[in-house]
Amino acid sequence: MKRLILAGGGHAHLHVLRSLATTHWPDVEVVLISPHPRQIYSGMLPGWIAGHYRIDQCAAALKPLAEAGGVRILQDHVIGIDADQRIVRCAGVGKLAGDIEYDLISLDTGALVDASALATTDATLLPIRPLEAFVAGWERQLDRFTQAGSARLAVVGAGAAGVELALAVRTRLANLLGADRATVVLIEGRGVLAGHGDRVIRAVSRQLALHGVVRLAGHVAGAPGGLVFADGRMLAVDCVIGTTGAIPAPWLATSTLALANDGFIAVDATQRSTSHPQVFAAGDVASRVDRPHAKSGVYAVRAGPPLCNNLRQSLAGKPLQRHDPQQRSLYLLATGPKVAVVSWAGFTATGAWAWRWKDWIDRRFMRQYEIN
Ligand SMILES: Cc1cc2nc3c(=O)[nH]c(=O)nc-3n(C[C@H](O)[C@H](O)[C@H](O)COP(=O)(O)OP(=O)(O)OC[C@H]3O[C@@H](n4cnc5c(N)ncnc54)[C@H](O)[C@@H]3O)c2cc1C
Repeated sequence: MKRLILAGGGHAHLHVLRSLATTHWPDVEVVLISPHPRQIYSGMLPGWIAGHYRIDQCAAALKPLAEAGGVRILQDHVIGIDADQRIVRCAGVGKLAGDIEYDLISLDTGALVDASALATTDATLLPIRPLEAFVAGWERQLDRFTQAGSARLAVVGAGAAGVELALAVRTRLANLLGADRATVVLIEGRGVLAGHGDRVIRAVSRQLALHGVVRLAGHVAGAPGGLVFADGRMLAVDCVIGTTGAIPAPWLATSTLALANDGFIAVDATQRSTSHPQVFAAGDVASRVDRPHAKSGVYAVRAGPPLCNNLRQSLAGKPLQRHDPQQRSLYLLATGPKVAVVSWAGFTATGAWAWRWKDWIDRRFMRQYEIN
């Protein structure tokens, strides 16, 4: 009997769990370590913020999925790995604290956001990751805004997530408090959607203007009273949402695993660690050294089937297969109301039909992980 540890219930591991629930993996004990009994799907989070979904519609329940595949679930955090000794260390909030030995481990624990420089004494700081902490913090903040009857909020970071969040937050607060009592400022270090094509940037800029999101350029830091720009300008806000890019969890640095230049786990074309053959990683926690790509959910989802196949092959001592991530990704960006912007290979379009398409794709994705 070999022990396979699945660390984190991220997008790629949802596929592995579904495979375990529907097919027999012989002679393997599988343990899932996840701090939460559900996996929130970030693609639907802006829709939840805007008020289009309940949170349970945006989350896959891990417990029934794990149980259907005979997987033991430990509700705990990984806080370290000694890959040389094949030991994973848990925080100890679950029943089985401490060190757990493994024959094979797969990591899909995602990334963090370092928003600490944005902390201010007078405003609530909500880093977008971990998502569970963000969800709880946003619900509390919404109550505060409702009691105050007005809101001044800044979203720092204008990548795809920052743009979607700013539009979603503005839609929700304008509906709740009235458009003139809800100020949402998007703070752009390098312009909106850096790295995306001109057409999609123009389409998204139109949506930001249409919905009354205020845009400010520059780098900010937290200061008493709000956010301060490098040139000394001050922005007084009640709440700051930080979406300032992905950083690795600190415990990766001491894992003895080879890391890529960005500090995430270096993996090869089979999603296997370049330094330790008993370690696989997929999604944001991993960086492909042969074919670097953006850290996005699309890549994490697509890595699921090849990761799953290679875990089985590795357990059986059989050759691994390479995974070639797609060169281009379809992006469907939610704009707040039920309208989305499509971006595909330089093509851009905006409309309610694009939202319905996104909604259909997202709901179908989530249905795959329902166990009835
Ligand atoms: C608001 C928002 C919208 C986005 N929209 C899109 C989109 O439309 N399209 C797109 O492609 N990308 C999108 N992204 C990016 C996308 O969310 C990430 O790239 C994607 O979630 C990465 O998936 P993952 O499986 O690597 O990690 P995650 O989805 O972050 O999952 C990681 C899992 O590991 C668990 N975990 C974390 N730490 C530990 C630990 N120490 N021990 C055990 N378990 C742990 C977490 O609880 C979680 O269940 C969006 C991001 C945000 C913030």
